[in-house]
Amino acid sequence: MGPPTAEPPRPRVATPGTSAGEVVSAPGRVNLIGDHTDYHGGLVLPMAVDRSCTVRWVPNGGDRVRVRSEGMEGRVDVAADGSDDPDQVDPPWGRFPAGVLRALAGRGRAPAGFDADISSDVPVGSGLSSSSALSVAFTLAAAGAGGLPIGTVEVARAALEGEVLATGVPGGLMDQLTALWGVAGHALLIDCRELSARAVPLPESVAVLVAHCGVPRTLAGSAYAQRRAAGEATARSLGLASLRDATAEQVAHDPIARHVVAENARVAAFADALPSGELGVLGALMLESHASLRDDYRVSIPELDALVDAFVEEGAAGARLTGAGFGGCVVAIAAAPSGQAVLDRATERYRASTGREPRGFVARAVDGARPLGA
Ligand code: ADP
Ligand code: MG
Repeated sequence: MGPPTAEPPRPRVATPGTSAGEVVSAPGRVNLIGDHTDYHGGLVLPMAVDRSCTVRWVPNGGDRVRVRSEGMEGRVDVAADGSDDPDQVDPPWGRFPAGVLRALAGRGRAPAGFDADISSDVPVGSGLSSSSALSVAFTLAAAGAGGLPIGTVEVARAALEGEVLATGVPGGLMDQLTALWGVAGHALLIDCRELSARAVPLPESVAVLVAHCGVPRTLAGSAYAQRRAAGEATARSLGLASLRDATAEQVAHDPIARHVVAENARVAAFADALPSGELGVLGALMLESHASLRDDYRVSIPELDALVDAFVEEGAAGARLTGAGFGGCVVAIAAAPSGQAVLDRATERYRASTGREPRGFVARAVDGARPLGA
């Protein structure tokens, strides 16, 4: 397991807590290409975006962790030792902090109490991973408050474990690693089998556009789990550790596995073409990725398809659903000078044709989480 090579995001270790507390932030992410590959040990190419979740914490000297979140209902009050069952916590958003506390308890965190305030401008339930921005920031906060030294990959693993405990959805590590390893001005080619990454320069000539289709992303946990299980069963039947090791020929007649194998190849090709900003090549790969997610992995919805079409009709080089699918966001690329104009025209066209209310922005690639004082 290696830290990223070539302009490496630095491995970081959460610092033990100070009596004064700390402020930690973690960004959301947009995935340029490579969806539903991470939990099959595959390749992904996300970037951390300029939307983030901030956790301010102070020790309270007790054995409870009390959390508030700006704009969210209720207040969370759970045992600092992680003994509260995460999926029973109310309000439901409190399941994420409770899941993280349990994941960290299993890693030896001292049951130190603290009070935390969360604020976030990552759109919730959009596929930009507001949940991982929260779980990574909260993992750093809770590790700091408990005096637990913990390396970057272990922070990502604990944050993922917390999310799985909170939601029951068996996701992969892409979002958490991106929130930690993000490099300003770069995308990250993450190898989810090796848990290593390489920062890939994102040329200034390429604008990354993100738009929400106006349909909330239902987590569709059961569909997610079913596809994961189907892919794992195929790998087993081929005698492989994961679909990462399958060839295109081996999975030619299996749509779920075919998506994963072809998507890994597209991610590698996209990472090769990105530094030189070859929009034609990059855009074609994104459109192939969307078609594969729609037709083979079957995680698109008509609104996401319509938004992808609107981007292409209005001059984007390519577009695709990003994240888990079933609603949420599309990511598109365009020549930088016309990025905002393409975004405005595409969202207007989509609004006119569907009656849905899209929301979009031109995304900037930013650095990942850096615990203050680390
Ligand atoms: P996504 O990660 O794509 O935004 P998810 O459905 O995975 O969508 O996660 C959204 C959930 O994460 C919210 O319903 C809420 O429970 C939790 N969450 C995200 N941001 C916050 C926040 N700022 N405060 C409290 N909970 C949050
Ligand atoms: Mg999420």
